[in-house]
Amino acid sequence: MNLVFLGPPGAGKGTQANLLTRAYEVPQISTGEILRAAVKSKTPMGVKAKEYMDQGALVPDSVVVGIVEERLASPDCASGFILDGFPRTVAQADALKQVLGALGKQIEHVVSFEVDKGVLLERIVGRRVCRACGRAFHVKFDPPLVDSVCDACGGELYQRDDDREDTMRRRLEVYDEQTAPLKSYYEGERLLRRVNALEPIEDVQRQIVKLVESCNG
Ligand code: AMP
Repeated sequence: MNLVFLGPPGAGKGTQANLLTRAYEVPQISTGEILRAAVKSKTPMGVKAKEYMDQGALVPDSVVVGIVEERLASPDCASGFILDGFPRTVAQADALKQVLGALGKQIEHVVSFEVDKGVLLERIVGRRVCRACGRAFHVKFDPPLVDSVCDACGGELYQRDDDREDTMRRRLEVYDEQTAPLKSYYEGERLLRRVNALEPIEDVQRQIVKLVESCNG
């Protein structure tokens, strides 16, 4: 099951990838998560990436392509993967095709998370993430049982710097300019499958499972 999740920030890609990864036992490859880990441990790549991330800009293609290339070659990707937040530019999509080709693999479905932009701001600004395990919550739509504490591991929940309102607006602009063109790119490859990402989490999950299973069957 080789999937790409495509959609603007706050559309629920990470949440859905997290659920699906448990159901199908394939890894979630989130470039955002990998970059945040590099920022946290202050690796040279992390220090450089932070400058872009804090502004809501994209990290250069060469950096993220290198990350994904290495990750996709890992043994745990043998029976599939969910790419969450990659590719984000046409150049990344071209590079992905090459990387997968060299591994004898190809994308099966690109799941496009369709959302109303107006709703995204509320979704992102209310988002809280666990410092320890990375699980995402929402103060209104998916609150933790105990305020600021992760249900899964008891870690502390925090608001990512790039989830603040001004950065969020910039990230949405960047999405429209650089990432949205990937929809017609993948439509041309007949890989694009649209889901209504405004529905409740379980219903979005059902839509994804249905399309993955029906297209496979
Ligand atoms: P995310 O958690 O996927 O929203 O990613 C957070 C930030 O990491 C983005 O705003 C970008 O600065 C950076 N990032 C994540 N994935 C990519 C990518 N594929 N290409 C470039 N930058 C990325």
